[in-house]
Amino acid sequence: MQIPLRSKLVLAAVAGVLLVMVLATSITITTQILVQEELTHKQATEITKSYANKFDGDMRSDLAIARSISLTLGEYNSSDRDEIDRVLHSILENNPHLLGTYVCYEPNAFDGRDNEFASIEGYDREGRFATYWNKINGNIQKDHLIDCESYDYYIYPKVFKDDIISDPYYYEGVFIISYSSPIIKDGEFIGIAGVDVSLDYMDEIVSQVTAFDTGYAIMTGSSGLILSQPYNKDWIGNKTIYDYENEGFSKAADDIKYKKSGYVNTIDPVTGKEVVVFYEPIESKNYGFFLIIPKDEMLEGTFALRDKLIGIGILSIFFTSIAAYLTSRTVTGSIDDIVNDFKEMADSIADGELNIRANTNIDEDFKKIPDGLNNILDGVVVPIHETTRVAVELSKGHLDARFEGDTEGEFKQLAQSINYFAKLLDVIITESNEVLVAMEKEDFSRRVHFHGHGDLKVLTEGIDQTRLALQQASIDRQIAEQELKEYARKLEQSNELKDMFTDIMRHDLLNPASVIKGFTELLLMTEEDDQTKRLLGRILDSNNNLIEMIQSAAEFAKVESSDELELKVQDITSIIEHSIDILTTQAGNKEIVIEFNEKKPHHVLANPIIETVFTNLISNAIKYSPEKTEVIVEIKESDDLTEITITDFGEGIKDEHKTTVFDRFKRVNKTGVRGSGLGLAIVKRTIELHEGDVGVRDNPSGKGSVFFVKLKRYDDEHEEHRDKTAKTY
Ligand code: ATP
Ligand code: MG
Repeated sequence: MQIPLRSKLVLAAVAGVLLVMVLATSITITTQILVQEELTHKQATEITKSYANKFDGDMRSDLAIARSISLTLGEYNSSDRDEIDRVLHSILENNPHLLGTYVCYEPNAFDGRDNEFASIEGYDREGRFATYWNKINGNIQKDHLIDCESYDYYIYPKVFKDDIISDPYYYEGVFIISYSSPIIKDGEFIGIAGVDVSLDYMDEIVSQVTAFDTGYAIMTGSSGLILSQPYNKDWIGNKTIYDYENEGFSKAADDIKYKKSGYVNTIDPVTGKEVVVFYEPIESKNYGFFLIIPKDEMLEGTFALRDKLIGIGILSIFFTSIAAYLTSRTVTGSIDDIVNDFKEMADSIADGELNIRANTNIDEDFKKIPDGLNNILDGVVVPIHETTRVAVELSKGHLDARFEGDTEGEFKQLAQSINYFAKLLDVIITESNEVLVAMEKEDFSRRVHFHGHGDLKVLTEGIDQTRLALQQASIDRQIAEQELKEYARKLEQSNELKDMFTDIMRHDLLNPASVIKGFTELLLMTEEDDQTKRLLGRILDSNNNLIEMIQSAAEFAKVESSDELELKVQDITSIIEHSIDILTTQAGNKEIVIEFNEKKPHHVLANPIIETVFTNLISNAIKYSPEKTEVIVEIKESDDLTEITITDFGEGIKDEHKTTVFDRFKRVNKTGVRGSGLGLAIVKRTIELHEGDVGVRDNPSGKGSVFFVKLKRYDDEHEEHRDKTAKTY
């Protein structure tokens, strides 16, 4: 896929900014997380410590109250129970956080008067001084501690002569701890004095502890017993931290036992969140203070910073994209302009328009590109123009055209080549032209002196070869011409001879023959001697024969030398009738009947000479038929032909003679029949000149011949021109 330059630039800028932003954000966030973690840990640890210290302080001060009571009572030398009651009442009254104050003396250890107090109100059966001032029911009231010597808070101080802070315990529905201190008088344990504190105040304080958003605190007593918990109040005093069944919490509880502080990362079973549990032992009595903070809240600031940084990153990318787009537009705009300009130029140059120049009115940074192109064009265009000009001039035949102007490098070579070519062409064409001009003047001696190379050599050598060939042809032609002239001369001579012969026949032979005929006929009329008459008759016959021969020969000579005849519309019926008329005497002599029953006119395009054809054919039919036979003349018409048949019942013509009888002087049976042998030759030639057909076949009746003549039929309706022009003979 092709990515536009502009998109590439924008992508590159955005990718760069993205990379920087991602790196910067990651580094910042990682550093910030470490710093924040350290800070929050410190904060949380301090909170934890301060609460632990506070409670430790509280416990110490409560214990101090208990101890100061016990010490005071150790020094007390009177035995006024009321006075001590008042003191205890007063201490309770003055320390609102206390739930109770109490003393419990060994039997008769206070005043030796236990018996006096036995079974009176406020005492037990033994009258022992064991007073318990308390506000368990809200108001300060005085109770008697029953069987106090059986509890830890009495036994421990008695045995160890030391203070004790009791484990928390329920007393009449209140969850309390007791601070108990031994009363030592003269080194002897005589009882205990102490104060009770409700754990409710502690739970109140601890429950109110918050850290970050939802961080909270819990407190445990010895062995991990839960003393304060903001969510499940019923766990207080009933469950231990080990009941969480959570490794982290259990480890914290274990550390507390060894008075160790610290923190663990774990999942809070109460909230299900990932938390950091900070824990601190309360030194006074192995109590523990736990601060549970959800991890994400600890890093909330960092996450907020991360989100901000990501926001800034997105904004940066957005603005960078716009900036990159605008910058790229400036850059690609110029490039686009150059590209478009170049494309237009390329199109124009491809169309042969070389005067076009690149637009240099563009951004300064890119100016060198169109400038460079223009320089190239300037360098190329002049030689191309010159080359074109010289080529055009040469093509117009101006062979003196030459490449002009200064050129360098390959263009110089081009200029030299063109000039050399033009000069070469000039020389060769001048040479060739001179040779051709000479050849035109029948001078084949002028040869090409300069031949050139390659195709030019082919041309000049071709001209030279042509020259030689033409020279030879000219010689041959001259010889042929000479021969032709000679031949024509002879032909002319022969024609003249022929004409002369025809004329001689017509005039010089026919006239004397006619004179002989006339005188012979005259002599016949006047002669009375039979012998002489018979001889004169023979002379007349022979002379008639001679006249006939001369006429036939003259006629044939005419027909033979003709090329075309002038054709006119002729009625073939009347022509045949005329022929028959002429031959009536000849037929009558042999008592031959000529049968011609056609009455209708039949038009053909013919020359009047056509009558000779029928006269000859009918004459032959009479001549070569026995006496008292029939000659039948018929006309038949087909679509475009008129066929005339002459049927006789004579000797007939054998197949081998059917074509030869039409040859000149061909006579098959000369016996008894006079003839020149030219008749059918005249017929054939005459029909040829009419573009018709003539032939002979056997008479189907078994004896005799049928001569047929086919002529083109003339149709009045269809033929527009009656006359056809032709050369006459
Ligand atoms: P002429 O020149 O006086 O006509 P010709 O009749 O002998 O002389 P053609 O007319 O050319 O010459 O005939 C050539 C020959 O063909 C004849 O000599 C004859 O033998 C033969 N011939 C022509 N017509 C007939 C015909 N109707 N029957 C038989 N033979 C024929
Ligand atoms: Mg004949």
